[in-house]
Amino acid sequence: MNNEPLPQAHIVSKEFRIYNTLTNKSEALVPKKKDHLTFYSCGPTVYSYAHIGNFRSFLTADLILRTAHALGWDVTYATNVTDVGHLTEDDLTDPSGEDRMVKALKSKEGEQFVNIWDLARHYTTTLVEDWHRLNLREPTVRPRATEHMREQIAAVEQLIEKGHAYETDKGVYFSVTSFPDYGKLSGNTLDGDLEQTVRDVVVDDDKRDPRDFALWKKDDKHLMQWFSPWGWGFPGWHIECSVMAMSYLGEEIDLHAGGEDLIFPHHECEIAQSESLTGKPFATIWAHTRFLQVEGEKMSKRLGNFFTVRDLVAPEAEGGKGVDALAVRMTLLSGHYRKPFNFTMKTLRGNVKHRERLEEVIALVGNPLDEPGAYEGDTGAILEGMYGRAKDAMLDDLNTPAALAQLFGGTKMILGNADHLDETARAAARRWLVDMNALLGVVFYDDQPESADEEDPLAAQVEPLIVARAAARAAGDWGRADEIRDELASLGVEIKDSKDGTTWKRKQQI
Ligand code: AMP
Ligand code: ZN
Repeated sequence: MNNEPLPQAHIVSKEFRIYNTLTNKSEALVPKKKDHLTFYSCGPTVYSYAHIGNFRSFLTADLILRTAHALGWDVTYATNVTDVGHLTEDDLTDPSGEDRMVKALKSKEGEQFVNIWDLARHYTTTLVEDWHRLNLREPTVRPRATEHMREQIAAVEQLIEKGHAYETDKGVYFSVTSFPDYGKLSGNTLDGDLEQTVRDVVVDDDKRDPRDFALWKKDDKHLMQWFSPWGWGFPGWHIECSVMAMSYLGEEIDLHAGGEDLIFPHHECEIAQSESLTGKPFATIWAHTRFLQVEGEKMSKRLGNFFTVRDLVAPEAEGGKGVDALAVRMTLLSGHYRKPFNFTMKTLRGNVKHRERLEEVIALVGNPLDEPGAYEGDTGAILEGMYGRAKDAMLDDLNTPAALAQLFGGTKMILGNADHLDETARAAARRWLVDMNALLGVVFYDDQPESADEEDPLAAQVEPLIVARAAARAAGDWGRADEIRDELASLGVEIKDSKDGTTWKRKQQI
């Protein structure tokens, strides 16, 4: 046996490049531990249903995970749930003010909840449901702020001990002057920039510097409160992410992600806290997703352009638009994560069509989950090349539009040759669908409970009608067959007859 290493030419090593906000350039993501990526992505505050803008940011994290898996890396991926409320933006004029979750509880929608814990539990459950609807892979861990209170209190105590924090009558603050690198992520180095009164910058006359931010807020009236060395109260917003990231991923992590609004103050403050605690660089790469707009405007309930995932995906009977969730995901993928993205109904409709074509491919070549294939023959070589180019695009700072172009190109080629595909070509197409899905997650659900259809109450109504219609047609009873077709239409179902029988799907109202 020859134990000599393979010639270098056989080892294809491609870099995974990601734009780093900290250095303002694209950099190779090189895990500290060989082939094992550690990364953290900021999750939502669970005070309402997460909207498609939030999911644009969560999708970036999912794509990092999928691309790392495509390189064969192990990944430890943590994304949190902020289930402790924090101040609303309108606290500018009301510094003593309400937090987002308390405000939600007092609203009309909040009436359905027994208390604030019930509200947090509900919106955490629905977050995870929508996460799966969009085919986002489960993180390694999804820690909750409320379950890490002891660690947060310990971190604040240590910051005080190390001279990075101090107590006043209202709370405990991080002393910005104790950390000379404050501002290195956002580039906000002027005092005025750092004072921006956003979310957690509290008005307290005893603060030593207006830029100092809260680590702990004293409040024995708050609906969520814990006992601490500083009395009853609750933590500042930023400390939870420092603590949870370090608990699950270690003191130095490879990558930290979130939406662009988090660069300052949230991520700037996370760096200050974590690096003051450890004396080590907290995250090597910081990746930020640009905001999503809808029909060219900031999403807002007032403009009627505010969409949660369930607004788009839920069946019409439940108040949704009945859109295929993977088409929503595909729409989000059609824009590069670092460019502003305009979500429009027109793009969504286009992606519904793309998804239908993918379903046609599956119908033609067979379900890859039942029968995996292999890249063989001429078609196999072409499809393998397309997968390779899609993967290269993702390695190049998650270039999703270029990766999708390979998906659409392959779909067109397969459907264009529908009449000439032999079993070798069909098997190659199945393998290609599996690989493209592993990378982009828009072909089928890969992390989903298997029996989604069996749980679908509509299927229980529709399927007996389809059988009855087939029987009426076989008996030549065309009147009855038409009646059943109308009945199916009234259920919001579209049917398609082919030589292999009748298939059905929900009509999409967009
Ligand atoms: P929040 O619950 O506001 O803390 O938001 C949770 C995550 O969604 C954060 O990473 C935000 O940056 C991100 N996010 C919020 N709105 C948008 C948007 N319109 N587009 C992209 N990301 C967003
Ligand atoms: Zn965070």
